[in-house]
Amino acid sequence: MYAKVIVDVPAKQTNRAFDYEVPSALRKWVEVGSRVGVPFGPRVLQGFVVELQENTQLDVKRIKPIQNVLDLVPPLTDELVMLGRWISHMYLCHEVTALQAMLPAALKAKYERAIGVGEEFGEQSLLDMPDLQAIVAYVKSKGSVPMDALMERFAADGALIKQLLGAGILTEVQVVKDRMSTKKALTVFPPADGSGLEQALSELPARANKQQEVLRYLMEHPHAIRLTELMETVEVGASTVKSLADRGWIELREVEVMRDPYAGRAFARTKPLPLTEEQSRVFAEIRAAVAEERHEVFLLHGVTGSGKTEVYLQSIQQCLDMGKEAIVLVPEISLTPQMVERFKGRFGDLVAVLHSRLSNGERYDEWRKITRKQVKVVIGARSAIFAPFTQIGLIIIDEEHESSYKQEESPKYHTRDVAVKRASMQGSVVVLGSATPSLESLERTRRRQDRAEPPYRLLTMKERVASRPMPPVAIIDMREELKSGNRSMFSTALYKAIEDRLHKKEQIVLLLNRRGYATFVMCRTCGYVSTCPHCDISLTYHQSSRMLRCHYCGYAEREVTECPSCQSKHIRHFGTGTQRVEEELGKIFPGIRVIRMDVDTTTEKGSHEKWLTMFREKQADVLLGTQMVAKGLDFPDVTLVGVIAADTVLNIPDFRSAERTFQLLTQVAGRAGRHEKQGEVFVQTYTPEHYSVQYASQHDFIAFANHELDVRANLGYPPYQRLILVTFSHEQVPLLVRFAEAFVTRLKEIALEYSTKQIDLFADAVSRDNSFQMDVLGPVASPISRIKDRYRFQCVVKYRGEDQAAEIVGRTVAWFEERSSKEKLLISVDVDPQYLM
Ligand code: ADP
Ligand code: ZN
Ligand code: ZN
Repeated sequence: MYAKVIVDVPAKQTNRAFDYEVPSALRKWVEVGSRVGVPFGPRVLQGFVVELQENTQLDVKRIKPIQNVLDLVPPLTDELVMLGRWISHMYLCHEVTALQAMLPAALKAKYERAIGVGEEFGEQSLLDMPDLQAIVAYVKSKGSVPMDALMERFAADGALIKQLLGAGILTEVQVVKDRMSTKKALTVFPPADGSGLEQALSELPARANKQQEVLRYLMEHPHAIRLTELMETVEVGASTVKSLADRGWIELREVEVMRDPYAGRAFARTKPLPLTEEQSRVFAEIRAAVAEERHEVFLLHGVTGSGKTEVYLQSIQQCLDMGKEAIVLVPEISLTPQMVERFKGRFGDLVAVLHSRLSNGERYDEWRKITRKQVKVVIGARSAIFAPFTQIGLIIIDEEHESSYKQEESPKYHTRDVAVKRASMQGSVVVLGSATPSLESLERTRRRQDRAEPPYRLLTMKERVASRPMPPVAIIDMREELKSGNRSMFSTALYKAIEDRLHKKEQIVLLLNRRGYATFVMCRTCGYVSTCPHCDISLTYHQSSRMLRCHYCGYAEREVTECPSCQSKHIRHFGTGTQRVEEELGKIFPGIRVIRMDVDTTTEKGSHEKWLTMFREKQADVLLGTQMVAKGLDFPDVTLVGVIAADTVLNIPDFRSAERTFQLLTQVAGRAGRHEKQGEVFVQTYTPEHYSVQYASQHDFIAFANHELDVRANLGYPPYQRLILVTFSHEQVPLLVRFAEAFVTRLKEIALEYSTKQIDLFADAVSRDNSFQMDVLGPVASPISRIKDRYRFQCVVKYRGEDQAAEIVGRTVAWFEERSSKEKLLISVDVDPQYLM
C-alpha cells in the first residue's frame, strides 16, 4: 500500500503530495487524515496522509517507507482533507498551511534530535569494548533516544559516543513529536467496593492515625479519587497515601485528565422558551431544512434583542434529536461567559468551547472531546469551523458580518465561505445571523436561482422580544457644539444624560473606537508629527506610561516635550482615545466609576471576564471602550449609550467604511434598553448628514443596504465584483516598484490568454452578464506605505464571473516567485480582502 503525503514545509517546491510506502506493520493505522513522520531528504518531517493507493507510478525501489504514525485516530477526517485542498485553491495558500490551520496548536509538529542505530550497526570491530556495547545496546533497546537524555545517562562517555557516531554505528535521527502532551494526574484507586480496607485498618498500628483516616474515608467513598483532592479532603500529605499504596492496599497510578476550563462551574439548566410569533416562523423554516437534511443557507436578519439566540438553541436541539452535530461560531470578542452560559445551560456537557483565551492544553482537550465524540455541539471563534465532526446537521454563524471572520494570516480564509462549502459537502444547513448582515450575504439572497452559486434565503425578525421598543437615537452635530462654545468632548445633551443616569443609578455604555490617549502628537509651531521610525504611521500617546507607541510594530519612545524638528515647546495632543475620555470623565463627574475596556486593559488572561462581571455587579457606572463594548452584551440596567465620535470609522479610507459605521452604531445602540427600562442613544459626529449615521439612527438596515449597494454597483466593488489584493514589500523602493510593475504586466497577459480562450469556447453559451471580466488597479504605494522598515506596494484585482481569477493570480505568483527568489521580496495575496491596507 502507498500513501500520498503532504509534508510540513510550506514552500512552493513541497506544495504537492509525495508518495511513501506504508509498511505492513503500520497498515492498520495509516488512514487518510493521519499524521505521519516521513523521511524527506536528510530529514524526517511530519506529514498528512491525503490519499491511499494500491499502486504507485514511481519506481518502487526509490520509495521510502513511512517511519511512524503520530495518532491512533487520525486528527483529520477525509472531508477536512478535501476542504483543505479547496481552501488552498480558493485562497492561494500551501495545502499544508490549510491543513495545519485545522488543528489545535498542540498538534503542531515538534522536531526532536535523537540518536538511533546507524547503517554500520552490524560492524563488530568496535563493539569489543564493553563501554561501547552498553551504549549501543541501550540505544537499540529504545529505538531512538533524545540527544540530551543520552548525554545525561552516559555523562562521562562523550568521547565514546562521538566515536560511535563517527563510525556510523550510531547516527543522528530526527523524531517528530507533538508540541503538547496530555495531562496526567496521580489518582488513588481503592479496591473494588472497598473490600480489604477493613482488614488493612486493623493491621495499622494505633499511632498511624493519618493513614487510618485515609482508609476510613475510602471505605465510605470507595471510588477513584484524584490524589490532590484526597489530600485536601482528609488533610494529609502525599507520603501518607503513598505508604498505603506501598503496602498494596490501594492503588496509585497516573491517569490522563482533561483540562476543563469550565470545570467546577455549574450552569443552571434552561428549558426552551415558548417562541414569539416571529421566532416560530423563522424556526419552522430552519427546522424543516434540518429535518429534511437539505443543504440550505439562511440569512437571519433579526434586530438586536429579537431573540436570535433562542432560535439557534432550538434549531440545535432539532439537530441533536436526529443524532447529528452542530457548530456555532461567534466572533472572538463576543464569546463571553454570558454566551457560553446560554449554550452550556441548555446542552450541558454536550458542549465544547474553543476560543483563543484558553491555554493550548485546554484547547487541545476541548478539541479531543470532539474527536472522541463526547460532545455534539461546539461553540467557538473562527477556527471552530474545522471541528472534526462527521455528522454536521447545522452550522450557525452569529454576527456573520464581523470582519474578524476573515483570517488575516495565511490561510486567509473567510469563515463564512468555508462554512458554506463544508455544509455543502456534508449536506447541512447554515444559518447566518446578524442585526446588520454583510452586503455580500444580503446580495446572495437576491440572486437568481440559476446562478452557479445558489442564493441564500432571507429570514427576518423585525421586532424585539416582548415588543420592547428600539431605543431612540439622537444625532448630535459636534460642529454646532463647537460654534456655541463647547470645546469639551461631551456635547451638552450627552453631558446632561450622563448626569441624569448617575443620579438615577442606572448604567452607561460609552463607545470610542480608538484606544490610547490621543491619536497623534503634533508640534503647533511647525506641524511636526511624531511617527514610527519603522512604519509609515503616526505614534499614539499612552498617558499611563507617558510613552508614544506604534500600533503596528510595537515600537515605543518617551513622550516629547520639545519638538525634535524646531525645538518649540508647543506640543499638542490631537484626537481622543479611550484613555483620555476616562480621564475627562473623572474631571467632569468627580467620583464617577469607570471601567475602561480596550486592547490595553484586556491583555491579561481573564481580564475581559473580570471587567464585565464588575460592570454586571454594578461596581461601575460607566463601561467605556472600543468596539469590544458594542458586541453582544446584555445588561439590564444600561439605559444610556453614548458614541463619542462616529467619525473614527467613517474616516478610514476604505470602501467598507460606511458599512462598518452603520454596523457599529447599530450594534452599540442595541445595548440600550434591552430589558424593562427604556433606553436612549446619543451619537456625536462631525458628519451628521452621512447616510450611514442617518439610517442607523432610524434603525433601518434595509434602507441603508439599498443605498450602499447602489454605491457599490456604481464603483464596481463587492458584492458586485470581487477583489484580490496583492501586496509586495521590500527594503528598497526602486526594486520594489520594478517587480510590482512586472507582476502586473504579466498578470494582464495571463488574464488575456484566459479570456480569449473563454470566448472561443463559450462564445454563444455564456451571456455577457456572466462572462469573466477582470481589471487590475495599480501598482501603487499601499495606504500604509512602510511597516517594520519594509516599503509596501499593492495592486487590486477586481473581477466578475466565476473563479478563474484566483487561478490566474496563482499562476502569476508562481511565475513571479521563480524570478524574484533571490531578492528577499515578499508577496502576499489576499482573496476577498476585508481591508485594503
Ligand atoms: P439577539 O441575539 O437577537 O440580540 P437575544 O437572543 O439576546 O437577542 O434575546 C434578547 C432577550 O430576549 C434575551 O434576554 C432573551 O433571553 C430574551 N428572549 C429571547 N426569546 C424569548 C422568548 N421567546 N420569550 C421570552 N424571552 C425571550
Ligand atoms: Zn516644531
Ligand atoms: Zn512601527
